[in-house]
Amino acid sequence: MSTHVAAPPSPGPFSDYRPLPDAVLAARIEEVRRRMGRRLVILGHHYQQDGVIAHADFQGDSYQLSRSAAERDDCEAIVFCGVHFMAETADILANRPAKVAARGGRRVTVVLPDMAAGCSMADMAAIHQVEDAWADLGTVIDTAEITPVTYINSAASLKAFCGRHGGIVCTSSNARAVLEWAFARGRRVLFFPDQHLGRNTARTMGIDLGEMCVWNPHDPELGGNTPAALRGARVILWQGHCSVHAMFRPEHVDSMRKNVPGVKILVHPECSMEVVDKADLVGSTSFILRQVEQAPPGTKWGIGTELHLVRRLGANHPGQEVHFLSPVVCMCATMYRIDLAHLCWSLEHLEAGSPVNVIRVDDETARFAVEALERMLAVK
Ligand code: SF4
Repeated sequence: MSTHVAAPPSPGPFSDYRPLPDAVLAARIEEVRRRMGRRLVILGHHYQQDGVIAHADFQGDSYQLSRSAAERDDCEAIVFCGVHFMAETADILANRPAKVAARGGRRVTVVLPDMAAGCSMADMAAIHQVEDAWADLGTVIDTAEITPVTYINSAASLKAFCGRHGGIVCTSSNARAVLEWAFARGRRVLFFPDQHLGRNTARTMGIDLGEMCVWNPHDPELGGNTPAALRGARVILWQGHCSVHAMFRPEHVDSMRKNVPGVKILVHPECSMEVVDKADLVGSTSFILRQVEQAPPGTKWGIGTELHLVRRLGANHPGQEVHFLSPVVCMCATMYRIDLAHLCWSLEHLEAGSPVNVIRVDDETARFAVEALERMLAVK
């Protein structure tokens, strides 16, 4: 039986929450959930720490959580235990004009418990850099031939850029289907911000490395490319990466195979091509989960993705041997900023009618971003 804990009459500053023990914070979080009922939805990304995930109504990867946000129009608030771009996506999808109109003008409040929970990859492509690149590309090739594709791990302004230019958003689950959609419409793709997901996906489609080039946003000379290289490119990859997945190295695969005979190497496509080439299986977070869930007892895995997810997989499948592929800790430090103290603080303020850390994408950006997101949601 749960112990009743009264809601604080007026929640205090975050500094009041920091010293509280986890058990107290967890009880207060559950009390808010109980009192708010269906008015509140807590979304938790797979990379989130266990203590936080325990309070999520839905757990998933970026794609599943965006679908969830798109489908939930009966709640008053979404608290997103993920990173900034995910909360922006939830705001855009949950507050599409038709949905707001159907609710009589009421918006769903989207909260990110800690505003410092960003994404280093998303930060590698700023909108002014993408606009400059587009203008520079236009001096060499016809931009009408290019479909811009942004990974969902990007700011809303980049999704809006794609919306304006006939482009689309992708996730690691649907990147190949999205690239096929893009190539059905144009000869070339500008893929940002993750060069690795773009390269690894294009290669699975049989696109040769010689038909790809990398755009360095810090190089004023055509992103470090010759006009001839750009004219010959089908895929122009933005020079960005995930600092977590970049930590996995090909030599980690070699040493795991040597030390754990029979191990299967399973990695995320944000890893470099050199790591992917040495792996047995490559796929999104959901794909990784599915592989382990479906494997027989005794299967040995060396998994190259975020640490919290890998640890949880090991704990949930004690009959299998789950190893973390890297000898060094690779965790998403920004996502880790969302802890019980921030979750409790933001929930109690939300319930009290004084929400903190509200994510609100401006209407103009949201209008174009939703076009690119809806194209993605329509791709099977
Ligand atoms: S794991 Fe990498 S891409 Fe994902 S949120 Fe963290 S920094 Fe961004």
